[in-house]
Amino acid sequence: MTPAEPIPLEVPLILLAVESPSELDGIDQILQAGYTLIHTHAGDEALRLAGERTPDLILLDLQTPPLDGYAVCARLKADPPTARLPVILVSERDAREDELRGLELGAIDYLAKPLDPDILLARVHNHLALKRIQDRLEASNRHLESLAATDALTGLVNRRRLLARLETEYARSLRTRHTFAVAICDLDHFKRVNDTYGHPAGDRVLVSFAAALRDNLRGIDLAARWGGEEFAILFPESSAEEAMIPLERIRQAVSALRIQHGDDTIAITVSIGVTDYGIGHDLIEQLLERADAALYAAKSGGRNRIVCSPQAHQDPCDLA
Ligand code: GH3
Ligand code: MG
Ligand code: MG
Repeated sequence: MTPAEPIPLEVPLILLAVESPSELDGIDQILQAGYTLIHTHAGDEALRLAGERTPDLILLDLQTPPLDGYAVCARLKADPPTARLPVILVSERDAREDELRGLELGAIDYLAKPLDPDILLARVHNHLALKRIQDRLEASNRHLESLAATDALTGLVNRRRLLARLETEYARSLRTRHTFAVAICDLDHFKRVNDTYGHPAGDRVLVSFAAALRDNLRGIDLAARWGGEEFAILFPESSAEEAMIPLERIRQAVSALRIQHGDDTIAITVSIGVTDYGIGHDLIEQLLERADAALYAAKSGGRNRIVCSPQAHQDPCDLA
């Protein structure tokens, strides 16, 4: 499991987009003690630097030809990677309508010239403190989301996350007309492993099985702990026949696994059912039922085998 992302305690990076060099010098002198500063005089360059360097704060003059500060601010806020960067607008005018327009465009604050050094420092300090809290919250949310989607024993994603990805893949297939495959894997006679060697040994077998899945899949495939000793795999952009190749690798790798338990060696096998999406024919539930039925056929056919139940070859029906 990945730990929460640490928040770097670096010197904050501030982008100064100010047209006049003398003003730039003034602001630079006020802020240079506590911050790393990058400068530009031009609005388009400010956009580029904001995207490339992701500063912690942007001090943006309204006069930054070829674009004015409003246009720069609007574009920053419209582009997801820069949308959350705090922008303080700096204007010649202490005018209510300018301030309102800037704030409505998403600027976090508005300062009129001439800038009071103490006020500037205090505002920059406060906005950076808020940004730091926001970054921490976002990192902690990401961590919680990943915990909520992860199976604690194997580190694979859980059933809920795979179901969510299935829905995304389902919608994409309808659009692109490329099928995807789903496999359900179930360890053979796993109860015997627990009964013979104990539950903790069974857990180690599950961890080794998960590693065998990871080792034999492409980066775009997604393996999940489906529940107990069952695992499901989503193969985007693959037919069931194509998925047979990595699945056969997995079947062989699993039957070659040897898990040491004291003086004993535990060996296991896996049965697998695989199917693919008959574009326009299937609901997700039907697809999963077919994969399950194929798994059942693999079990009743003698275990340690894969049963393939393809659908993708059917003519897609016309979807409005
Ligand atoms: P089959 O070949 O028909 O699949 O037989 P099986 O023994 O694998 O199937 P069965 O459904 O009878 O038993 C599954 C066992 O998996 C029973 C349950 O205790 C065990 N199990 C489920 N989750 C875990 C787990 O997290 N850890 C361990 N150690 N065992 C688990
Ligand atoms: Mg089972
Ligand atoms: Mg089983």
